[in-house]
Amino acid sequence: MTSKKIQEWQKTIQSIKEELSQLGDMRPGSLSEQYNVCGNPTCRCKDPKNPQKHGPYHQLSYTHKGKSTTEFVKKDKVAEMKRQIRNYQTFKTLTEEWVELSVKIGKLRKKIPAS
Ligand SMILES: [Zn+2]
Repeated sequence: MTSKKIQEWQKTIQSIKEELSQLGDMRPGSLSEQYNVCGNPTCRCKDPKNPQKHGPYHQLSYTHKGKSTTEFVKKDKVAEMKRQIRNYQTFKTLTEEWVELSVKIGKLRKKIPAS
């Protein structure tokens, strides 16, 4: 039955809403590790045979409102940042699912004859 299908999808949307309300802090973007050389010519990072660059430094890169940004993330904040990035991905997945279901419901409703 058509209306039963709609009810089912609405139930799924309801659980998506509940999951969304449980989400904590979030950040878009991805983390990467960088290794740098410094300005000291006698430093280990400039060793001609076995250069050991400084790092890793953690960076968060993301695009927001059409602008791409990179910011450094302190070592002790990396775990928390990873958690927030995961939250953002969950947020994206859930909202996409919600939109998809809404579109499906809308399409199916058009097929139901008005009584
Ligand atoms: Zn150095």
